[in-house]
Amino acid sequence: MNKAKRQAVIAGNWKMNKTRPEAKALIEELKPLVKDAGCGVVICVPYTNLEAALEATKGSNIKVGAENCHWAKSGAFTGEISADMLAEMGVEYVVIGHSERRQYFGETDQTVNQRVRAALDAGLKVILCVGELLEQREQGITEEICGMQTKVALGGVSKEELSRIIIAYEPVWAIGTGKTATADQADEVNGFIRSVVAKLYGDDAAQALTVQYGGSMNAKNAEELLGKEHVDGGLIGGASLKAEDFSVIVKAASK
Ligand code: PEP
Repeated sequence: MNKAKRQAVIAGNWKMNKTRPEAKALIEELKPLVKDAGCGVVICVPYTNLEAALEATKGSNIKVGAENCHWAKSGAFTGEISADMLAEMGVEYVVIGHSERRQYFGETDQTVNQRVRAALDAGLKVILCVGELLEQREQGITEEICGMQTKVALGGVSKEELSRIIIAYEPVWAIGTGKTATADQADEVNGFIRSVVAKLYGDDAAQALTVQYGGSMNAKNAEELLGKEHVDGGLIGGASLKAEDFSVIVKAASK
C-alpha cells in the first residue's frame, strides 16, 4: 500500500476557542465549502461545543471530535470527561497527547497511553499527537523522542485497534508559532514514525496508518506538505478557525 491508498484526514483542533453560537456559525460556513472533500474532515472542538457540533454536522461529511478525555470510566475526577461520555454523545474522534496538554497540564507518555486505551475501549477513534521540542531537535534526538512517545502511547494497543488510530506528528516548535517544518522535515519524521509502527505491528498495518503533520499548516503551505509521501493529512490549529482557510487545506488533501 502507498500514500494513494491511505485515507488522508484533515482535522481541525479548535483548542479553547468559540462559544456555541460562534461554533454553529463556523460549521454552517464550513459545510458547503468541504462537502465534496476527497479526504476525511474532522473538527475537534471544546467539550461545551460538542452537542452543537454534532447537531450542526448531522447529514454532512464533517466528523466531530473532542480534544481530550480521561482514562477512567467514571469516578472522582472533578472537571474531567470520560471516553464513554464522549462515545455516548455520538462523538467519533478524540485528540490525545497534544503538546499543550503535555506542556501545561502534566500529561506524560504514560497518561497518554492510559487515555488512548480508554478511548479505544469506548469505541472512539484517536488522533495521537507526538513531537519533539526545539531543543530536542537541536540535540539531534527528534527520532528518539518521537519513537519513544509513539511506542509508549501504543502500549497494549492491538493491531485491530491500531486501525482506529491516526498519529499526528506535531513538532512542538511549530505549533501556533507560524514556524512550519519544511515539507522534507515533516516527511522524514512521518516516515520514521511509520517505520516504528511497522516494527510493532508489521508493514501492512504501518502502510495503512494515517500519519498527519501538524504545526502552522495553513492555506499557503498545505499543498507542499500534503504532497509528501508520508504526510497523510494534517492536524490544524489556527487555520481551522477560518472556514475558508480550512477548506483550502481540505482541498489540497483531496488532490
Ligand atoms: C495544533 O493545535 O495541533 C496545531 C497544529 O496548531 P497550529 O496549526 O495553530 O500550529
